[in-house]
Amino acid sequence: MCNLKDKVAIVTGGGGVLGGNISESLVKAGVKVIILDIRQANIDKRVAQLAPFGQIEGLVCNVLDAESLNSVKDKILERWGTIDILVNTAGGNLPGATLREDQTVFDMKFEDLNRVINLNMYGSVYPCLIFGKVMAQQGHGSIINISSMATYSAITRVLGYSMAKSAINIFTQWMAMEMALKFGDKIRVNAIAPGFFIGDQNRAILLNPDGSYTERSKKVMAHTPMKRFGDISELNGIVKFLCSDEASFITGAIIPVDGGFSSFSAV
Ligand code: NAD
Repeated sequence: MCNLKDKVAIVTGGGGVLGGNISESLVKAGVKVIILDIRQANIDKRVAQLAPFGQIEGLVCNVLDAESLNSVKDKILERWGTIDILVNTAGGNLPGATLREDQTVFDMKFEDLNRVINLNMYGSVYPCLIFGKVMAQQGHGSIINISSMATYSAITRVLGYSMAKSAINIFTQWMAMEMALKFGDKIRVNAIAPGFFIGDQNRAILLNPDGSYTERSKKVMAHTPMKRFGDISELNGIVKFLCSDEASFITGAIIPVDGGFSSFSAV
């Protein structure tokens, strides 16, 4: 259905769990994927894993550093001449910014709050501004940001993360408007809002060392009509769809992929 063959895609945080899986699905769809990650080891692992399936490259890049982003932008344009797709998956919760059960909001260190907000807000805003400018100049492109269930209603312990992801929602809508009004209808900006998927950032608070559910996981399940965590492969369909011309009239949308979590009152 979604013809993405030979498109050029950047996946930030592509060395991580969600970004790696999205990269794999794009590579298998014939997309030339460049993963950007701050950790060389994560890049090496992912590139080695995906190379047999198609065109995949990785560049070290800090999404919070304009110089780093501009430098990889130049390299990508020199090599491929275009940026068709940007998927912003670099982000996630940070240990110090996740309150322990025995803490209250007044224990939160400002430094930790700033770090998690910077990563999850500017970590998508800056790539959109730098790579989105290329899309504006070339007149086409599709951007996908990653929102969260933590933007629908308050989720305990993750204040800064929730604030930053909520900012991503309005930023997505704002950029969608700006691109369409000023640069035409071929540049689209959307977000997906994953429900609960086990990733490196949340494994410790969702699973006990023996793999059983924590109390927090049990609460998630009580609120999820499908009664399970998502499998990361379940994000791939919507990402490919939003990247493709099949979604040519969809911009500014924030699409939950959550087993019903956001639409269920739990009653
Ligand atoms: P992850 O920790 O597995 O991957 C994140 C990747 O981003 C890592 O490879 C890391 O090295 C990289 N990264 C971190 N800081 C960076 C920086 N400054 N510059 C470049 N790269 C950087 O996380 P994940 O579980 O795959 O989550 C990816 C995204 O999905 C995040 O935005 C997260 O908030 C969101 N999300 C995850 C879940 C979930 O259940 N796992 C749910 C909702 C949303």
